[in-house]
Amino acid sequence: MVAENLHEVKEKIQKRCIEVSRDLSEIKLIAVSKNFGVEEIEQAYNEGIRDFGENRAQELDIKYSRLGDKIIWHFIGSLQRNKVRFVVNSAEYIHSVDSLLIATEINKRAGSINKVQKVLLQIKTSDEETKSGLTDYNEIRDLANYCIDFPNLDLVGLMTIGPLTDDKNLIRKSFSHLRKLRNRLNSDNINIKELSMGMTSDFEIAIEEGSTMLRIGSAIFGQRDYSTSWKEKL
Ligand SMILES: *Cc1c(COP(=O)(O)O)cnc(C)c1O
Repeated sequence: MVAENLHEVKEKIQKRCIEVSRDLSEIKLIAVSKNFGVEEIEQAYNEGIRDFGENRAQELDIKYSRLGDKIIWHFIGSLQRNKVRFVVNSAEYIHSVDSLLIATEINKRAGSINKVQKVLLQIKTSDEETKSGLTDYNEIRDLANYCIDFPNLDLVGLMTIGPLTDDKNLIRKSFSHLRKLRNRLNSDNINIKELSMGMTSDFEIAIEEGSTMLRIGSAIFGQRDYSTSWKEKL
């Protein structure tokens, strides 16, 4: 199942890259394994996937203890201060930094284990109330500059979650906003490259708008079953 799904997803990514003249090697595919077990992760790993995304600190911590450093872990969920140290211990990338408080804590925890933590700022690019992330340009630029000044943070890019809608223009607007924001920050002497955007329902639009990191879950692993806890699947 996972192997076939992955094959299909990779084919779609490749096809869209050709259509918009993008180099496939610019785009990292992150398999979002939240709510799936170690077995499914191993299946994707055997198909050559090395980047996996998780959105709960405890779930990531347990999977990290089982699978370790052979996997490049991406933390993509909302982050509480008291969970930061678990995430810093395991994640290569943290995509969801949206406050100075969290950035400060990540820098401190990374410093205590002599690590330089790669981070992205989470940006709210749609009007949906439920989405979190930064919106104000000055606030974003200031936080980016703080991250650059922290010795144990490496700011690599921006992340957003597209709006939950069938309106492709709205989704496109959200992703192109993130790209323009990155370009504007770069013209303000902030040197970042990554755009983490695009999930199962909208990754093709994200590729067209410049995504460099796709976070894809259900198209690879199938529908998530929330009727049983992730704890029972490990
Ligand atoms: C769950 C999740 C994804 C993957 O969603 P799918 O629709 O299953 O591809 C991507 N990004 C974030 C932040 C998520 O929480």
